[in-house]
Amino acid sequence: MSQIAILCSGGDVSGMNPALKRFVEYSFEKGLIPYFVQGGYEGLIDNLIVKASYNDVTGIIHRGGTKIYSARSKRFMQKKHRNTAAMNLKAQGIDKLVVLGGDGSFRGMDVFFKEQAISFCGIPATIDNDINGTQYCLGVDTALNVIKVATDNIRDTASSFKRAFVIEVMGNDCGYLALVSALTSGAEMCLIPEIQYDLEKLKIRYLKEVEQGRNYFIAIVAEGLANAKEIAQWFEDEIGFESRVTTLGHIQRGGNPTVKERLMAYQFCTYAIDSLLSGKSNSVICYNNGKFDFKEIYEINSKKYEIDKSLVSLGKSLLSK
Ligand code: ATP
Repeated sequence: MSQIAILCSGGDVSGMNPALKRFVEYSFEKGLIPYFVQGGYEGLIDNLIVKASYNDVTGIIHRGGTKIYSARSKRFMQKKHRNTAAMNLKAQGIDKLVVLGGDGSFRGMDVFFKEQAISFCGIPATIDNDINGTQYCLGVDTALNVIKVATDNIRDTASSFKRAFVIEVMGNDCGYLALVSALTSGAEMCLIPEIQYDLEKLKIRYLKEVEQGRNYFIAIVAEGLANAKEIAQWFEDEIGFESRVTTLGHIQRGGNPTVKERLMAYQFCTYAIDSLLSGKSNSVICYNNGKFDFKEIYEINSKKYEIDKSLVSLGKSLLSK
């Protein structure tokens, strides 16, 4: 029987636990012995590699985060520690790894594969949805739903008090979470790093709307702009609305994985194991236009993620484009 391991690296996301469940169940179905690596690449170096059983994955499908812990690892950047990691895997006969993480984690795995000949398959997992080559990363749907609930709640109080609320959402330098959230929660403003905004243009429209009876504003801004306070002040000074800032922060990372998330986790994990069994050695599973496919690391890293133009077009007026 052949051995296979899974680990989580970089920021945790909801959807990792359903992926772990599928990993164990599908490995057994395929006649493989599944292992968990605890704490990402740190766990590889420290030999926290344990056999996984059905019992380990009962009762976890509805939980956010990851049962096997995630981490970032400075040590993994050094060859001597990667040698230790490879030795630990080989000692248990493991030559296949499934890695849930972001593009940084995949870059690390690519180096590891080239040095140590341990095959891997990457599953994109980051709420930022900023990995080039895939339209979907695990964790995104749950994060969007957390933002949706928070924004709906904020709207209730904003409309009762005639206020402007500026909601800062995660996403690093990527505006995907902000834009999709603004579109789906009926926000009046959306500011993202990818699109230059024009406050004067928005001001003309907002003042007209206020004249016609608008009594609250919801603005969603991406964390990459770091301008939530400044925009709140702008609402006070230019639009004449008392304003508040809400930074959603880490609540966006956690929570009960949505149905879509669980299903995506199951599919990503199935494709990952199938790809390793079919002999693919260093690929990442991507999801585009309703289909899964595989990309080599160089394709993922060859350019920066670009936000979907059709979404930008839908959000034109919110973005002041
Ligand atoms: P997130 O988007 O949540 O930050 P990520 O996977 O992009 O996830 P990183 O912190 O960029 O997160 O990378 C995770 C880990 O991958 C690093 O802590 C490091 O151990 C490893 N890594 C990244 N790049 C390399 C590299 N060039 N060589 C070796 N290891 C690397």
